[in-house]
Amino acid sequence: MTGELASVPALEMRGITKRYPGVVANDHIDLDVRRGEIHALLGENGAGKTTLMNILYGLARPNEGEILLDGKTVQIADPSDAISRGISMVHQHFMLVPVLSVAENVVLGAETMARGPFLDRREASKRIAALAAQFGFELDPDARVGSLSVGQQQRVEILKALYRDAQILVLDEPTAVLTPQETDEIFVLLRRLADDGRSIIFISHKLYEVLAIADRITVIRRGRVIGDRKPGETTEAELAELMVGREVELTVDRGASHVGGPMLHVEGLRVTDERKHEIVPGVSLDIRAGEILGIAGVAGNGQDELIEALIGLRKPSGGKVSLDGRDITGCSPRDMNRAGVGYVPGDRHRFGLILSFPVYDNLILTSYYREPYSHGPLRDGAAVAESADAQVARFDIRVPSSNVATSTLSGGNQQKVIVAREFERPLKLLILDQPTRGLDVGSIEFIHKQIIAKRDAGTAVLLVSAELDEVMEISDRIAVIYRGRIVAELDGRTADKSAVGLLMATGGEANPAEEATA
Ligand code: ATP
Repeated sequence: MTGELASVPALEMRGITKRYPGVVANDHIDLDVRRGEIHALLGENGAGKTTLMNILYGLARPNEGEILLDGKTVQIADPSDAISRGISMVHQHFMLVPVLSVAENVVLGAETMARGPFLDRREASKRIAALAAQFGFELDPDARVGSLSVGQQQRVEILKALYRDAQILVLDEPTAVLTPQETDEIFVLLRRLADDGRSIIFISHKLYEVLAIADRITVIRRGRVIGDRKPGETTEAELAELMVGREVELTVDRGASHVGGPMLHVEGLRVTDERKHEIVPGVSLDIRAGEILGIAGVAGNGQDELIEALIGLRKPSGGKVSLDGRDITGCSPRDMNRAGVGYVPGDRHRFGLILSFPVYDNLILTSYYREPYSHGPLRDGAAVAESADAQVARFDIRVPSSNVATSTLSGGNQQKVIVAREFERPLKLLILDQPTRGLDVGSIEFIHKQIIAKRDAGTAVLLVSAELDEVMEISDRIAVIYRGRIVAELDGRTADKSAVGLLMATGGEANPAEEATA
């Protein structure tokens, strides 16, 4: 690297402005990222982070501003142009093909390793193994991607970027799906990549992570750069305040719970997946009115199947579920809704929202057929609009109006639409699957308070979250799920985080003593 080049940022975005109807998503944003730097981008939901990164990756065009790579102005036409200029994006939803091997996935779309129409597998495997060895992560190039853990799959995505010689890597909330151990490992890897002279742009809502890994932090609020900090010079509280524009309670006080009678009773519930594999081989649990039961577990241990069976999206193959003394085993989602069950799904695009519908329709998606929104067959448009406006205001959903298509909302604001809808009425049971995934600190504070308020109003709450801190902070009781079984139950107020982490990782088998004490 020449001295001249070393003094020029690897990336400069100058005066980037992007307008959408009714909203300025990026308002003259300046961002510079140096070589060898891990640069965190922080901002509340809808602040404009994804828009800025989409512009960098050629997915959106700015109305104003310019992009410079190594000091030279460039026009980025589309993602393949971005990749050829050394910019890669590791998406939150991996773009991998499960039935293909690691090597096949890595070379997919990269023409350099194809010899004519055929892929030179051996050569590809060799190069991948060399890259993996250089950066110190172990991955078998011949392993099928579908058999890998989420953390390993993420490395395949990063390998893909390295294989294309990415010099600037954008990671959009990379730790949202990882266990604490996997997060530590990915941080080691990111630091190695930076030490190798690459630039990392890291988007995260987790402030402690940003403080632990970033060299520099840029905070965006409502489309504008609000500040630039170094981790040593700031705190979580200051960053939260910069992002949100007010003081934020980073940990909400769950207070004492006043539990009532039994509400949800699950006995020996068995659930199979599409391939008839028994994913949940018999779960029993109870939640009383006015109590939050948190389920801690590494993703893929049967949480999804358990919840889908409880809410009626999947027929259980055995066992019994009752709500407030009534047998509801195998009821449909509509019946569950009528019985007073609220549900915030983990996969909001699959189950929670119809993205092409306006926001006001999504706000009544599970209640449109009821008063006050419908009188018999007649829809009351004024009542729908009035309720939508009230919910948009109460939940601080950032939209130009509730008439816009839900697809145009930022990820975090889409999540708020679901939460607003499900929390709006009195409930017997509230099933929450990753309720704050992708939400900023201010919104998490608000949602946690709402969950506690629901509990205090007598609702039984089942909380499933990959976010162990979230489970630890608001649950009255914690159940650890491992390979489809509840392997331990702990008191939410006294449980030790590392003990829970160990149970999540081993199911207690490797450490029978732990299980015994739990
Ligand atoms: P989050 O943390 O929730 O993902 P973000 O900071 O990534 O938020 P963006 O997705 O960049 O936010 O959204 C910025 C603003 O631009 C939001 O108000 C969003 O509604 C708006 N927006 C983004 N894409 C479009 C689009 N295609 N059409 C209209 N508005 C859009």
